[in-house]
Amino acid sequence: TPMLEVAGLRHTYGSGPTAHTAVQNLTFEVATGELACIVGPSGCGKSTLLRCIAGLIKPSAGTVSLHGDKIDRTPEDLAVVFQDYSRSLFPWLSVRGNVEFPLRSRGVSRADRRKRAAEALEWVGLSGAGAKYPWQLSGGMQQRVSIARALACQPSLLLMDEPFASVDAQTRFELEDLLLRVRHEHESTVLLVTHDIDESVYLGDRVLVLSKSPASIVADLTVDLPAQ
Ligand code: ADP
Ligand code: ADP
Repeated sequence: TPMLEVAGLRHTYGSGPTAHTAVQNLTFEVATGELACIVGPSGCGKSTLLRCIAGLIKPSAGTVSLHGDKIDRTPEDLAVVFQDYSRSLFPWLSVRGNVEFPLRSRGVSRADRRKRAAEALEWVGLSGAGAKYPWQLSGGMQQRVSIARALACQPSLLLMDEPFASVDAQTRFELEDLLLRVRHEHESTVLLVTHDIDESVYLGDRVLVLSKSPASIVADLTVDLPAQ
């Protein structure tokens, strides 16, 4: 069974004359260990698709399955990184506290939370920053914390919604390379949404191209790199 299976997905916001169909006719699978990028123009429905997969909104039609199980709420073995790091971290928690936070609700013991947070912060190059608060960090560093928090959950599937769109170019390159490194070490399955086709080809094993809204898949490309 594929890690992720999206079948006949459609989502319409609102109803009656103001109804707006954001995505329609979406059917695709993501295999275990794959890094798939979804690319399409701004406003085409990428975030809507990701919210449906994350169980944050209920699609109007179609199904989303994770390891063959239909999802109707946010599953625990899924983690999401959003574009807007400034709203995704809790300002009253330290960096370490932020990374440990989702592990609490997953019932991870205190000792293991410490260990996993330390590990994840090391991956993103923030070993020394655990005691700092988000506001003491640059935007790029805050986004690293968001990524560390997602990775610490050791998700089967990592969803990323324009995760590098609000950081400067240098930080973006660093974070992209970090993602490529970490996903290889952990054999993570990643679904990353971007409006940047350059980024999608740089990162993805596979690139799904969406049309303008209402989005449907217009191309499904495998990025084949020659053996090094
Ligand atoms: P993308 O992530 O590709 O920029 P979105 O999924 O955010 O696209 O939006 C797709 C379409 O759905 C857009 O036309 C947007 O205006 C509309 N949309 C998004 N969220 C809502 C909402 N909560 N209510 C109504 N329309 C929405
Ligand atoms: P090019 O010659 O294709 O313009 P650069 O010399 O600007 O490439 O890129 C140097 C390094 O920057 C690359 O090895 C890569 O690490 C990074 N880089 C370039 N383009 C991208 C991109 N679209 N996404 C991520 N990293 C990139």
